[in-house]
Amino acid sequence: MDSMTKDTWLYTSTHNAKWAYEGRHNPQFPMCWWINKEIRIFWEKGVPEAVARLIEGACRDRLRECELPGMEFQLWGSHSSVMEQIQRALTNNDEIDDELLADTCLKESWRDESNGGRQHADIIITRHPLINDHASWASASALKGVITFALHSDRIDDHDFLRRVAKHEMAHMLGLMWHCNEHKNVEGYDYNPQCNLHWECSGEHLCLKCRDFIFWWWEQFKYLSSQ
Ligand SMILES: [Zn+2]
Ligand SMILES: [Zn+2]
Repeated sequence: MDSMTKDTWLYTSTHNAKWAYEGRHNPQFPMCWWINKEIRIFWEKGVPEAVARLIEGACRDRLRECELPGMEFQLWGSHSSVMEQIQRALTNNDEIDDELLADTCLKESWRDESNGGRQHADIIITRHPLINDHASWASASALKGVITFALHSDRIDDHDFLRRVAKHEMAHMLGLMWHCNEHKNVEGYDYNPQCNLHWECSGEHLCLKCRDFIFWWWEQFKYLSSQ
């Protein structure tokens, strides 16, 4: 990837935020999960509640780090509606089709304000591997407001790594769609290989470049929603 200036980097953030805000990716579903600042956490049976709380704590830390206060987390546990959504998103090999799962969350009546629902994001912790991808621990969509965890085998026991993965996915859900190394050369920022936004999640913290991207994405949202 060629180098770019800091201005271009920050312009890309605000430009993408505007694109998401206006729903140009999908006019039927503009990105609005965040309007009530509510994030619901669900987990399958077999996932200890302590793991859900660990993920919540990591996501809260990420929000603090990005100066985005005021999001409320709700622990919903193994609510039947989401367990059904998981069942529908399972393949014959017991893998989770995270794209399909995120789509059903986006369109569910629980989010539909005209139907008595309320906009929110969903964090869903499963015991299944992601479809065709047994290496990834989770996936996230900023546009749909969904994070899916794939905590099969002994993954629920690796708390340190899980914390870093949760912070990483939260950054994706907050609008940072790239990994840090995909834009290594941004003038005005030092490249930090320990940034949490590498695929390997070896570090816990965001580099300034990634943090700024998220910060300015939400500044743009605040501006647009005050218009
Ligand atoms: Zn970074
Ligand atoms: Zn990632």
